[in-house]
Amino acid sequence: MTASAPRAGVARASPGHQGVVDAWARGELSALEERSLLRRLDRLDSPQGPSVRLAGRQLLNFSSNDYLGLAFDPRLIEAGRRALAEWGSGAGASRLVVGHQGPGAALERALSDFEGCEAALVFSSGYAANVGVLSALVGEGDAVFSDALNHASVIDGCRLSRASIVRYRHGDVGHLAELLKATPARRRLVVTDTVFSMDGDLAPLRELQRLCREEGAGLMVDEAHATGVFGEGGAGLCQALEVDADVRVGTLSKALGGAGAWVAGSRALIELVLNRARSFVFSTGLPPAVCAVGEAAVTRLHEEPELRRRLWRNVEALATGLGLPATSPIFSLVVGAPQVALEASASLLRQGFLVKAIRPPTVPDGTSRLRVSVSAAHTVGDIERLVVALRSTLHEERP
Ligand SMILES: *Cc1c(COP(=O)(O)O)cnc(C)c1O
Repeated sequence: MTASAPRAGVARASPGHQGVVDAWARGELSALEERSLLRRLDRLDSPQGPSVRLAGRQLLNFSSNDYLGLAFDPRLIEAGRRALAEWGSGAGASRLVVGHQGPGAALERALSDFEGCEAALVFSSGYAANVGVLSALVGEGDAVFSDALNHASVIDGCRLSRASIVRYRHGDVGHLAELLKATPARRRLVVTDTVFSMDGDLAPLRELQRLCREEGAGLMVDEAHATGVFGEGGAGLCQALEVDADVRVGTLSKALGGAGAWVAGSRALIELVLNRARSFVFSTGLPPAVCAVGEAAVTRLHEEPELRRRLWRNVEALATGLGLPATSPIFSLVVGAPQVALEASASLLRQGFLVKAIRPPTVPDGTSRLRVSVSAAHTVGDIERLVVALRSTLHEERP
């Protein structure tokens, strides 16, 4: 973050009031810094891509979720440019208030086809989708069963819903079965990421589906890191495993290179969410140009399965280099203490690689790590260089 001086002519808040909050902030920040948990924003001077420019240096980028290299794709850019000229820059209001425009409607049609579902509804982000959908579906008197390593937006959605939250051990279907049997409730909803964002492992979706059907529970999945990556058409891990989850959340912001997210499922589900999800009802729709970019990305996925093949070639190359399984494009190298992760990341930066340290609360205490994400846009040479650097760096940090 860069501090900027107050602009001339702008009145400053009364110093007394500002002083109180400023003191709170300073106290909290120094506590974070002491624990090596302070975060800051780095300014990038380039588009997203396999290589990015940071502080005047070109770095190989292994920290982005742009898995297919679509965030700077000429066809997506052109679709956005055209829609921007035709439809303008903003959506004007909540879609329920002012209506939605052509590109938004076209995107939702494309997404429901893509998912093979009756209907889809677009949200302004994956965070908003999870928070809105969960609180639309369950409430007081209901129970939501959540994998211990679910994404923060799922956790926050559970909290906001006021349903009772039952956390099951990560990926442990046996534990979930016990908890389901022991927890009577009006409605029971199981929710899981399909690809876990900080570990890159996969949810046991088939077993979860079987259990939910036996128990009469609903199943909601978050495909944020699986969209564009798994499945014959790139629709996600449900598609790859032929699992039919009741509620599917996907994002346009990761492999699809844009912004926004969607929920897909039955027509009634979508209608209920549209009526009840407060992050939809009380939030302005995505700009039409952003919707047009999303639709172009879904089209690109259809037309170019080669992108996904190239991604998996790179996943295999990195897996082989590190001696790890080729499960997903996310590789998690746990080092333990936040300070160790920061030092490893700084050392990689000096060697020309952007590999960010991931620390609590994003991951549990004692599991700070380097998170490496691979893209279709990397070359095998990029990956070989990373493997050499990671080997020597982690060897240094862990004698
Ligand atoms: C990134 C992510 C989200 C949030 O999506 P945004 O579009 O970035 O808000 C939701 N769920 C999971 C699992 C994610 O990794």
